[in-house]
Amino acid sequence: MSNYSKNTLEIIWKQTLDKLNAGAFFDASIFNTYINESKLYDINANGAIVIVQNFIAKSVFEQNKSVIENTLGEVLDQQISITFTLKKDIKDYTELNEESKKIILEDKLLDKYTFDNFVVGHSNRESQAAALSCAVNPGEFFNPLFIYGNSGLGKTHLLHAIGNYVKKNTPNKKVIYIYSEDFISLIVNSIKDKTIEEVKRVIEEADYLLIDDIQRLKQGERSQEIFFNLYNKLIAKNKQIIITSDIHPTELKGIENRLISRFNSGLSVGIDSPEFETSLAILEKKLEERNDQFLIERPVLDYIATTYSSDVRELEGNLNKLLFKAILYNPSVIDLDFAILAFKDDPNVKSTGKLTVTKIKKAVCDFYGLTKVQLESKQRTANVSNARHIAIYLCRKHLDMPFTKIGAEFGGRDHSTVMSSFEKVNKLIKEKEVFENAVSKIEKKLGV
Ligand code: ADP
Ligand code: MG
Repeated sequence: MSNYSKNTLEIIWKQTLDKLNAGAFFDASIFNTYINESKLYDINANGAIVIVQNFIAKSVFEQNKSVIENTLGEVLDQQISITFTLKKDIKDYTELNEESKKIILEDKLLDKYTFDNFVVGHSNRESQAAALSCAVNPGEFFNPLFIYGNSGLGKTHLLHAIGNYVKKNTPNKKVIYIYSEDFISLIVNSIKDKTIEEVKRVIEEADYLLIDDIQRLKQGERSQEIFFNLYNKLIAKNKQIIITSDIHPTELKGIENRLISRFNSGLSVGIDSPEFETSLAILEKKLEERNDQFLIERPVLDYIATTYSSDVRELEGNLNKLLFKAILYNPSVIDLDFAILAFKDDPNVKSTGKLTVTKIKKAVCDFYGLTKVQLESKQRTANVSNARHIAIYLCRKHLDMPFTKIGAEFGGRDHSTVMSSFEKVNKLIKEKEVFENAVSKIEKKLGV
């Protein structure tokens, strides 16, 4: 085998082609059609092997052999001879490629996310339980399992936790974790380099398929079709599929209906922002993992947990920020004064006392158990509509925003629609006590 990794070969060949291109040795059309499509397959004691697309390409390469050899020689800083060959003439070619695809598909699990370090609270209890149950009894109860919720609430963590659990407890089972955008690239690239059948075969062999942020699959039609077929095959074999998304399956935009209806056939569970106790427990967990020497006083954790509980990523980020400041200034103990001072200069934190559209949306979503995307969508079910009217009302009342600007914040609604939402709430508050209660609870939560 070669002394060069696949990556290195790719880099070497890219440099060589760039030089050839810059030297204008070839017509642009010849270059793009034949030269650019070639691949450096190997470099060994006998020289380099370059794979070319077809017979015509081969003859173009043969005719220009010396300039290509010289250019590759410059990149490698040594003289080298090249053999140009067609893919079909390399007998172990498919094997090599399969190997590399396997690495791409199987090696994406992050060790750091496990069930052990996932703090369970009211907001995520259902999704954690469902995830664990799928990890333990794949394909038996909920297939697919669909976990949805706003960004930063632990969906990716749970997917990796499932993967790591399986890896540890049933290592003979094959887990594939893949981020939806990577899935699209994988499909696009493998169609281009004609390895798509291998990719499909590798995925079809999975016992667990973990697909993260499925809403991003909307960018790839061909990928959706391939995903649809893979999905059906896996489900038919009782293989476990777990999907995450920032929105409930019924509201996925740009995803084929036949896929959405299949997602709905399993179990969908939501994941919410952590309540105060869970936020606090998460902070403690994260601190434990970091193993810092600092003594942090309890009110500091309370302060962070109260201020940033809407998003665990933010919660963690701010804890890190505080610890970074502590490393910098080395206080004997991190107390509330130090924390407040540490966050004072931060523009993100400075605005925490101020009411913003984001905060209003967040509070309304929390109250109604919705995601931000739902709130901004065109969905008209009573629960979502009411929540949206209230959010619009609060933006107008407390931020005094123009109706058009509010409209832009809520999925591009026009001035009159926003105005009628506002008026509707104004009226309902006077007429219905439940409504008045809902609004005042949200206002209380927002501190207004
Ligand atoms: P999402 O995929 O929903 O956007 P992530 O899974 O990436 O969110 O989580 C963001 C960060 O918050 C990660 O570092 C994750 O470990 C952490 N996190 C989220 N929920 C929890 C939890 N319940 N316990 C511990 N850490 C959590
Ligand atoms: Mg995620």
